[in-house]
Amino acid sequence: MLTIKKTNMATYKFMIDGKLIDSEKSFEVRNPATGEVIGSVAVSSPADVENAVQSAKKAQRSWAAKSDEERKKILMDVAQVLNDNAPYLAEWITKEQGKPLAGPGSLFEMQACVGWTQVPASLDLPVEVVFEDDTRRDELHRKPLGVVGAITPWNWPLMIAIWQISPSLRAGNTVVLKPSEYTTIGTLEMIRLMNTVLPAGVLNVVTGDGSIGALLIENKDVNKIMFTGSTKTGRKIIDASKGNMARLTLECGGNDPAIVLPGTDAAKIAGDLFWGAFINMGQTCACAKRLYVHENDYEAVISALDAVSAQMPMGNGMDDGIVLGPIQNKMQFDIVKSLVDDAKANGARIVRGGEPLGGEGYFYPITLVADIDNGTRLVDEEQFGPVLPIIKYKTIEEAIEKANDSDSGLGASVWGTDLNEAARVAKQIVSGTVWINQHGAIHPMVPFGGAKDSGYGVEFGVDGLKAVTQPQIISIKK
Ligand code: NAD
Repeated sequence: MLTIKKTNMATYKFMIDGKLIDSEKSFEVRNPATGEVIGSVAVSSPADVENAVQSAKKAQRSWAAKSDEERKKILMDVAQVLNDNAPYLAEWITKEQGKPLAGPGSLFEMQACVGWTQVPASLDLPVEVVFEDDTRRDELHRKPLGVVGAITPWNWPLMIAIWQISPSLRAGNTVVLKPSEYTTIGTLEMIRLMNTVLPAGVLNVVTGDGSIGALLIENKDVNKIMFTGSTKTGRKIIDASKGNMARLTLECGGNDPAIVLPGTDAAKIAGDLFWGAFINMGQTCACAKRLYVHENDYEAVISALDAVSAQMPMGNGMDDGIVLGPIQNKMQFDIVKSLVDDAKANGARIVRGGEPLGGEGYFYPITLVADIDNGTRLVDEEQFGPVLPIIKYKTIEEAIEKANDSDSGLGASVWGTDLNEAARVAKQIVSGTVWINQHGAIHPMVPFGGAKDSGYGVEFGVDGLKAVTQPQIISIKK
């Protein structure tokens, strides 16, 4: 990944203590839609990681000493900066990550960055009196944890960074972020702009691959790790946290099931089901990744999804009218291809797609795969791409059992007109969220997190804010 710095392209620098820092080493970033080099990124050294953590540690005291009202005001200013620069940052997301400007794409991602900053900025964690009698009064106060080490993936790079940064800052922590090596430039630009209104050292960013991420999370002065990424890396983070006892919020992979109840109107749900499975080309932790349909409705649901898929233009996300972009990187493109090839080799029916589109960029078509079951790789593994296996079931019990037959437990959905029956089914699924008649419908006030190997801890809302605090009991004798 690392190359010697080239001089004929812009090099984006990382930021420590409010200053942009250059480096001897850099790596190139390419547009996944065109293969073009779009810039290079200065790579942080181990010493830079240490400097960033120390800068955050130093800044944390005065940041925590500010009143809640002051921090809320500054965060609202940050939201304004994100809003004002949304078109600029959205272009970076599209050029670097691939999702289109239009549709549920990069402008939508920027709106989420604004909202997920405003909401924690407006929340409070008042002192709770947890016990009181004639002899004593016990109060639970919420204190900042200190320095948060934040590690992000490449699928929703700016939004997920904001999920980690905004509540952490609201609660009085300071942050060192290490963005994905696949989508660094947009994040660097966002952090640079956020720093125009934040005090120096409160929000720092270092760059590089997983080895730099590992140095950050192992640092003895990191008190909390906010991680979003694969379950494999999540396990390494659990191991590393033994050293510094950092508190963990782990948002890891998902393999969300969606169950369509018998007798559901296929045409009515097809549009929402499509985006539930294919937002960001399926490169979303909580996308529907396995669809279970009753045998009587099986062909109708497949046809309805096929019809919706046919309406969705794919291409370079900078072009007008495009709503689906490329897969973000070669590694993910190869995973998707190999899972579909395996399904084909095992007799599955390809309803649509199934072969790379060829040409420049990592374009793979929307692919619907029928006549497939649990026990095949495409169903059992997280595809994280534009492919949906559709599995036929005979009884609801069978659908629930197959939905739960996974190590993942991030999200799930149940689709049907009888909301009581949908809720009855939903309660039997082991996952952090079950949506009814929608999928992936996250909200900044609603806690979000995984069950099983999808991680632990929650983000968003009051519970997400509590997760970046240390509870302290003040116990008073009367
Ligand atoms: P990844 O685990 O490969 O990388 C994520 C980040 O971890 C990157 O910044 C990487 O450099 C860093 N990293 C790698 N090794 C590290 C180490 N030893 N120590 C510290 N940091 C290290 O994941 P990815 O491929 O970027 O993202 C895709 C995965 O993320 C999918 O499984 C997806 O489901 C998951 N995801 C989960 C959520 C959620 O909220 N649950 C959201 C988005 C993505």
